[in-house]
Amino acid sequence: MSETILKAEHVKMYFPVRGTFGKVINHVKAVDDVSLELKRGETYGLVGETGCGKSTLGRTLIRLLSATEGKIYYKRTDLMALSSADMRKMRRELQMVFQDPYTSLDPRMRAGDILTEILDIQGIGNRDSRMADALAILEKVGLLPEHFYRFPHEFSGGQRQRIGLARALILNPELVICDEPVSALDVSVQSQIINLLLDMQEERGLTYLFISHDMSVIRYIANRVGVMYLGHLVEEAPVDELFDHPVHPYTKVLLSAVPSDDPHVKKDRIILEGDMPSPLNPPAGCPFCTRCPYVTERCKEEKPEVSYINTEHRVYCHLTKP
Ligand code: SF4
Repeated sequence: MSETILKAEHVKMYFPVRGTFGKVINHVKAVDDVSLELKRGETYGLVGETGCGKSTLGRTLIRLLSATEGKIYYKRTDLMALSSADMRKMRRELQMVFQDPYTSLDPRMRAGDILTEILDIQGIGNRDSRMADALAILEKVGLLPEHFYRFPHEFSGGQRQRIGLARALILNPELVICDEPVSALDVSVQSQIINLLLDMQEERGLTYLFISHDMSVIRYIANRVGVMYLGHLVEEAPVDELFDHPVHPYTKVLLSAVPSDDPHVKKDRIILEGDMPSPLNPPAGCPFCTRCPYVTERCKEEKPEVSYINTEHRVYCHLTKP
């Protein structure tokens, strides 16, 4: 098995809610006690419905947000113990591709300036070498030298996401958090960007945390998958095992919505009642207990502990543990 490149232990990300006079009256529990490991060179798919905390977890893992509790190690370095200056240096290795390539690019800056600015901030090279590096990465992501001088509004959505990818890769990182990088794009463009991500991974040995709500995209790109619900990781397994033998009731719900490859096979979609509870006021027991078809009294009172189906497949559900 490959080396662990990033390890998160019991990470919590709570956002304070302030009342009168700025007093903290509650917390939004966006990420609640998540532990996971990313292996060098893999794509770890993080999946769940909107609002489940997957984007917040992605940002927290590379310290774009400061975790409320828990530990995050990148290689052997404790990221939460780094000073701001040391974290800035570490950014060379930890990058992010954002969902909306339009709002994540400064509309007043030309594509080339967006790229050279990153090298400038890191103190890399001089004016000429930065421009050469920017042109080289533009070419790598399938853009042309003349695109260096264009503004974000002059590009299509797919081209803007190529610039987003170039911006993440120009520092030659090791780990890239891809936060729904294709969900704002047309289906025909999605596959181009996904294949570009895979090409770059093969060429550079990149590790991806790929965040998506689309199980079909996850199946195509991921090696392992983590399923999130209401700030919790509820199941994790290698991609084929998760799709072929899901254990957690929520994973089964997500998979029931994925169309079958065989048009003759009709799948019974499981429809959930109600909405996901607010992370301001999550259930005391299992996070899924308000919607789970198999809920028991125990589920409402007791958070499920981890159960290992095998060494690579873990699940948080009382049904899997006596
Ligand atoms: Fe459903 Fe209970 Fe399992 Fe939670 S612990 S997923 S409520 S059966």
